[in-house]
Order: sequence, then C-alpha cells, then structure tokens
Amino acid sequence: MVPVPARPTAADPPRAGSACSTPASHGTPAMGGGHLAARPWGLYVHVPFCPYKCDYCDFVAVGGGTRVARWHTPYAEAVTREAAHWMATLAPASPPVSIFYGGGTPTMLGAERLASLHTALVRRCGLTAGAEVTVECNPGTVDLAGLRTLRAAGVNRLSIGLQAMQDTLLLALNRRHTAAEFLAAYQAARTAGFRNISVDLMLALPGQSLANFAVGLDQVLALGPEHLSAYALQVEEGTPFFARARRGQLALPGEDADAAAFALCRARLIAAGYEHYEISNFALPGHRCRHNLLYWHDADYLGLGIGAHSHWQGWRWANTDRLAVYCAEPPAGAPEERLPPQGALAPWVAWQEAVDEARARSEGAFLGLRLLDGLDEDAYARRYGIALRAAFPGVVERLLARGLLQEAPPRRLRLASDAVAIANRVFAEFV
Ligand code: SF4
Repeated sequence: MVPVPARPTAADPPRAGSACSTPASHGTPAMGGGHLAARPWGLYVHVPFCPYKCDYCDFVAVGGGTRVARWHTPYAEAVTREAAHWMATLAPASPPVSIFYGGGTPTMLGAERLASLHTALVRRCGLTAGAEVTVECNPGTVDLAGLRTLRAAGVNRLSIGLQAMQDTLLLALNRRHTAAEFLAAYQAARTAGFRNISVDLMLALPGQSLANFAVGLDQVLALGPEHLSAYALQVEEGTPFFARARRGQLALPGEDADAAAFALCRARLIAAGYEHYEISNFALPGHRCRHNLLYWHDADYLGLGIGAHSHWQGWRWANTDRLAVYCAEPPAGAPEERLPPQGALAPWVAWQEAVDEARARSEGAFLGLRLLDGLDEDAYARRYGIALRAAFPGVVERLLARGLLQEAPPRRLRLASDAVAIANRVFAEFV
C-alpha cells in the first residue's frame, strides 16, 4: 500500500508532469477574450532545466546542467511571449493570486535571469497584492547572493527539494547534492529573509529504513520549515528505476514499510504543530501552499513553459514538451502581430480539450477530498449544479458505511484517517 502519490499528476498538477501526446483536435480554450476569470487563479511557470536527471524522474526536465545553458535566455523569452499571448487571448478579469516557478529546477536559470523573468511576467500578468510567489530549488543551485536577488524581486516562498537527509540515499536516486548542501541552502534562505520555506521529502526509497527516515525527518523538523511535503517514490515507466525494477535490481522497502513511514511522518509532524491539510502536505498554521490549494479547489490556473498544463474556464490544455518547438522564434513583426490570431491554436499547445460536466463533477469530488478539512457539500452543489450525493448515487453512503469517509459538520465530507493511505481507491469511486 503506497500511502501517498509520488508527485501530483496531470489531474492536479502543481508540476508540469509529462506532456500528453493527445493531438489538439477542436476549438481553442476560451478564445475570443469574452471569458473573464471571476474567481482567483494561479500562474504556474515550468522551468525544465536541472543539473542532472534523477533516476526516478519522469517530469519534463532537461538534465545536463550548464551544458544546456544556451537554452536559458531563449526559454525565458519564450515564457514571456507565452504570457503575453494568454493575457491578450484570455483577458483575465483579475491578476493571479499566486505564481509558482516549478520544474525542473528553476534556479538553474540563475537568480538574475529568474528575477528578470518574474519581473517581466508580473508586468504582463499583474499580481494580486500579498500574492504568494514560490520558487522551487535544489540544494547546490542557490547561494546567498542569488537568494537575496530572488527575495528582492518579490519571491516570498521557497520550496527546497531535499528528498532525504542521507547522502547514500540521495546517491541511490542519482541526486548529486548532499545533505550538507541542503543545510547550507536552508540557512542561506533564512539569512536572505525567506520566512516561508517548504521542504520535500520522499518515502519508499530503495535502501531507506524506517529508522533512517525518522532520523532525516527529525533533522528537518529541527530546522522548523513552515511547510513539508512527503511523497512516496513511484517507479514510472521510461525511467532508469523502471528498467532496474524490471531486471529485479531495485530493492524497494515494500508497501507495509511505506505505510509505516508515512504514519510515522504524520504523527511526528502533527505532534510538532503541523496541520496535515492535504494527503501529502503539512503546514504550520497560516502556511498552507496557497498556489496548490487552487488546484485542489478546482480553480483556474495558467501554465507557462514546456509540458505545462492549464485549466481555464472549462478547458484544459498542455504545452509541447519539446524545447525547440517551444522556443521557436515567432515570425518577425510587431509584438501584437506575433500573437496567433484569436481562435487559432497556439503553436506550442500539444493538446486541448473541453472538460465536460461529468468530468468536472468527478474532478471536483476527488480533488476536494484530497483536502483533509473535507469537501464542503453545499459549495460543491453550488459550483457543479448538483449535490455530490445525487451526482454519484450511493457512493458517499457506501464509503461512509465502510468507514472510508466521515461526515464533518457542518455538511462536510472528509477522508477517514485510515483511508488517507488508500485515498486513490476512494477517489476511484468518483470517476
Ligand atoms: S531535480 Fe526534480 S525535476 Fe530535476 S531531474 Fe531530479 S526529480 Fe526531475
């Protein structure tokens, strides 16, 4: 039993995930400028560059470190062009309430270039006062000067990909940073003025025992990060780990060990004052990730960059995962003449689809149930035009009877704590 998903998937993509190859077939998302975003929305910016490629990674990520640095400037320019395109095409009624730079390793762009990109995007998209602005980084790709640059540019939240505190485990993942580099990055972030730091940890790693997971967790907790994400490793097709697993050369701890590690993680974090607010996410009060909450509330988001997914006014689309296609120079002309005409498919969009009513109701149910405060049945009925129990006849009652869901007054439904470990089985009932 795997307690938590490895990383958010295309259904709830805080990351770009892997781009889908479904060909674009019909219409365009909310084209024509007449669709206004009446609700809060978030901007996701995918920066695919990484110092190396981790052996378990199936994200849209380009390893190679500085060898691929020639792409950095064209990529930042292409992201800025894409932002201008969508602002002109979608004409949102309000600026984003959050911006999340994910990857990949956004800090591989270099702090100055990343700060300039952020400034350019805010100029084009605007930004709500007090917005959350997150940058993901990996140890070894940031220093104090760079973090100060990001902080001065308006970045107010840092998400550090640690994964494990044991160098041997990091090596087994082909992550080439060390625990010491993580500690240096963390301290530099504090010195630079970051008061909202998230740390990513992984469970279910090859060679990871419950004891060394607990030691690593305690070392992280001693630092007092405001937020912590704990994901189980998932062996994805096409990765070196997948090939190794098929050859019988990947010794994973096993489902019971994974469940024990997650239970320990949850208990220690709650005892330390963290709120377990989403299946894989814990936060000190007031520090839930506002950007990711948009995904779980089935809100609109716009994804920029290769492999990025968007969800806007009943449409979904995903960008190409090919750097050369994405960075291709548009035809010469005035900036406004470079935009694809209204109603035409942007050349970097790989696929798009309208979200039909049934799918919207399904996603609204299982995304909402990821939040451990539970799903507000009245808000669901207002949003989707039908009561949850009417949309899925008998499902809620069956899950309540099996003890997998609980009623939480007033009129909320939430996962039972024992069901968190098998949440995907619960969600499947709403598909
Ligand atoms: S750092 Fe993250 S995105 Fe980059 S290769 Fe490793 S797992 Fe993938």
